[in-house]
Amino acid sequence: MVVGGGFGGLEAVKRLKRAPFEVTLVDCRNFHLFQPLTYQVATGGLSPGEVAFPLRTIFKRDGNVRVMLAAVSDFDLDGHEVQLRSVDGLPTPGPIPYDTLIVAGGSEYAYFGHDEWRQHAAEVKSLESALGVRSHILAAFEAAELESDPQRREAQMTFVVVGGGPTGVEMAGQIAELARDTLRHDFRAIDPRTGRILLIEATDRLLQAFPPSLSKKAMRSLRRLGVTPLLNSPVVGLDDGGVTIGTNEGKSERIPARTIIWAAGVTASPLAARLGELTGAEVDKAGRVAVEMDLTLPGHPEVFAIGDMVRVRGADGVAQALPGLAPVAMQQGRYAAKVIRARLRDRDVKPFRYRDKGNLATVGRGSAVADISGLRLSGLIAWVIWVVVHLWYLVGFQNRIIVFTRWFFNFVTHGRGARLITMQEPEAGRGA
Ligand SMILES: Cc1cc2nc3c(=O)[nH]c(=O)nc-3n(C[C@H](O)[C@H](O)[C@H](O)COP(=O)(O)OP(=O)(O)OC[C@H]3O[C@@H](n4cnc5c(N)ncnc54)[C@H](O)[C@@H]3O)c2cc1C
Repeated sequence: MVVGGGFGGLEAVKRLKRAPFEVTLVDCRNFHLFQPLTYQVATGGLSPGEVAFPLRTIFKRDGNVRVMLAAVSDFDLDGHEVQLRSVDGLPTPGPIPYDTLIVAGGSEYAYFGHDEWRQHAAEVKSLESALGVRSHILAAFEAAELESDPQRREAQMTFVVVGGGPTGVEMAGQIAELARDTLRHDFRAIDPRTGRILLIEATDRLLQAFPPSLSKKAMRSLRRLGVTPLLNSPVVGLDDGGVTIGTNEGKSERIPARTIIWAAGVTASPLAARLGELTGAEVDKAGRVAVEMDLTLPGHPEVFAIGDMVRVRGADGVAQALPGLAPVAMQQGRYAAKVIRARLRDRDVKPFRYRDKGNLATVGRGSAVADISGLRLSGLIAWVIWVVVHLWYLVGFQNRIIVFTRWFFNFVTHGRGARLITMQEPEAGRGA
């Protein structure tokens, strides 16, 4: 049984299809989400169906794979059962027995212990949230167009992105392109190009996982696009009307803003802590459970945990955190499947080893940074590599073609076709 149809879980099931046993894939969504591109949904560059792919479609021809739409609520490791709860009011499935279990529940954004900030600063990790952010950003321009008070208009036109990692950099760059380029002729009372886009980072540089020279290049590219990076500026307060940051002099500064996007710090799925509790495996501050060198839980060789929710024990016994990246989860998914297949033939498999294929982040149209096995690239060449890699890993041939076509037209026309504000309760059409 596999829990989670994200990068790790999907890869494991793909390697187990047509195996001489049944595989049940449980996910609380009916689709695999390509998270590296959800920020493009949030800024109208891509539509939801282009970055998500139905799990049933992926495995429709694999008779040994059963897909279940349900949320895993608990594990009975001694009884070899997984407990489920219903999703969206669907019937509640009973517990599912397993011989071998792979748990790949991923991670979610953490708000540094300030859960109350969540309601004011949306993230772009889930598709639902990305769609909310898209409506919020576009509605901010609409509100500014209707606003007569200059201060309130300025707050509407101020966009704050918290977190200077790849997602924060990509998100800030996209909002800048939207304001400076795509929307520039669309309004009459406001000039979208005057919008302020602030990228707030607590440390002294952006893209901490990249070499400092690439951080500097990304910073320069962002400035050219019209983004203002604010380094050494930890967020100390956040509410509906704006964000408060700490400054170098030990003071704080309030920035009025109606749109705040959270792209800072993640915490593992709660399933990791539960597995830690049940097996005595160490759980770190980020909620990741420590697995053995073969990705199984201590005392439970039949239970694997992979992806964003784990740290892996090395030969020295110390649990190491690998980068929270799709290739890590995918390699672990493949490895778990390989161990399971090898066990059928009574063969051993060497401990898991992560093969680092490098780091990529895009800044804007035709601009990216890449650190590939020590080769440091930036600008157009890095962006072309970024495009090829993302198209390659996107699930579904049709999606690849559609996304490639979209990007081509977006590149040439500077447009974004999916600029829709979708509200839960549309006011239009209601009687006056
Ligand atoms: C905005 C953003 C941009 C990113 N960009 C990049 C990038 O450019 N390159 C890169 O390499 N990485 C990127 N990442 C990181 C990458 O997406 C993750 O490292 C990767 O998704 C981890 O894979 P996973 O299988 O551990 O978890 P996920 O892919 O998150 O999958 C977890 C799955 O488990 C399901 N699930 C969770 N809880 C339950 C439950 N209780 N019951 C049932 N199902 C459950 C979820 O619905 C989901 O399908 C990005 C992440 C984000 C959020």
